Amino acid sequence: MEKIDILDLSLEELEKEFLNLGLKKFNALQVYQWLHKKLVFDFDEFTNISKETREILKSKFEIGTLKYVTHQVSKDKKTVKFLFSLPGKRLIESVLLKYKNRYSICVSSQVGCPLKCDFCATGMMKFEKNLKASEILMQFYYLQNYLKEKNDKISNVVYMGMGEPFLNYDAVNKSINMLNSKEGQDFSKRNFTISTSGLIKEIDKFSEDQKQVGLAISLHSVIDEKRSELMPINKINPLEKLKGSLLNYQKKTKNRITFEYILIDDFNCEKNDGVELVKFMKSFNHLVNLIPYNKVVGKPYKTPSIQKQKNFYNYLLSHKLNVTLRETKGDDIQAACGQLKVKKEEIKDEETN
Ligand code: SAH
Ligand code: SF4
Repeated sequence: MEKIDILDLSLEELEKEFLNLGLKKFNALQVYQWLHKKLVFDFDEFTNISKETREILKSKFEIGTLKYVTHQVSKDKKTVKFLFSLPGKRLIESVLLKYKNRYSICVSSQVGCPLKCDFCATGMMKFEKNLKASEILMQFYYLQNYLKEKNDKISNVVYMGMGEPFLNYDAVNKSINMLNSKEGQDFSKRNFTISTSGLIKEIDKFSEDQKQVGLAISLHSVIDEKRSELMPINKINPLEKLKGSLLNYQKKTKNRITFEYILIDDFNCEKNDGVELVKFMKSFNHLVNLIPYNKVVGKPYKTPSIQKQKNFYNYLLSHKLNVTLRETKGDDIQAACGQLKVKKEEIKDEETN
């Protein structure tokens, strides 16, 4: 019989499993705390659980862990990118970012991404699977243990790694609830942000399910033809509909929405792009986060010069947008999503050739 992935079970689900096995309900709470609060992933270290119960646990459950493959540290030491492997040799990435002595982590939600945005390294990969809640949690736990050794801890989590989180809605939602659980990390919902390419149905659902979690929208253009060229999903979820859904989200949650806008040379940061962007933002309590495009090998898109980036930023600023221009962080280690995995696979190819 296949063993159950114990890290994938919420406390309620774990309690149910324990009762079915004739075990005590309060033991389920203890086990949940070992796993999700103390981050101990070996049944034999659960010292308040009897040996007999531990043997039953070992026969029914497994603790699936991520296998560390490699990591890269950026020159400024502020970005560390980790590559992990899942069963079946599937690779995923997680990134640790330090900003003013606080650590954010960027987690993956899928292996590959079926949405295939034209500029994105993850979109170039074959879409393989949705991650389970446990596989999302393990990215957090691995990095939390890594920081613990430095007497530090995670302050923010962004779902901005590989994949589209809203195409894996249930597992993402579950991972947030489990990280938030009092018996686990007790991590505040205010410190999560989900980044989405703009799936309308899921945004509507999210505005009911997770009112405290931050939302970031990958916008990249407010002109339908341009956005569709970059992001095929815009053909099914066009800007007007997206806007309606976001207004509804804002009405329900009162949250400020972050709009990510990658700057691509000669494409989306010309005068008219700025004019339209200003009009679009008037309806929202917003933060526009300008991100210089991170070059992806094999793609035609280029990063604008620093001067061009600043001109666009200044135009938006002078029209009273709430805007930031991201300094290019960790671009020496290809910190944009999917890029480390692509590199690793190139290395693998070279090794086997
Ligand atoms: N699928 C989700 C979350 C993962 S992508 C989404 O699209 O929002 C996270 C962010 O990285 C998105 O805003 C995406 O547009 C951006 N991104 C992808 N490739 C990039 C690149 N090469 N340079 C800069 N940003 C990139
Ligand atoms: Fe998928 Fe996001 Fe990359 Fe688009 S940008 S292909 S939605 S991961």
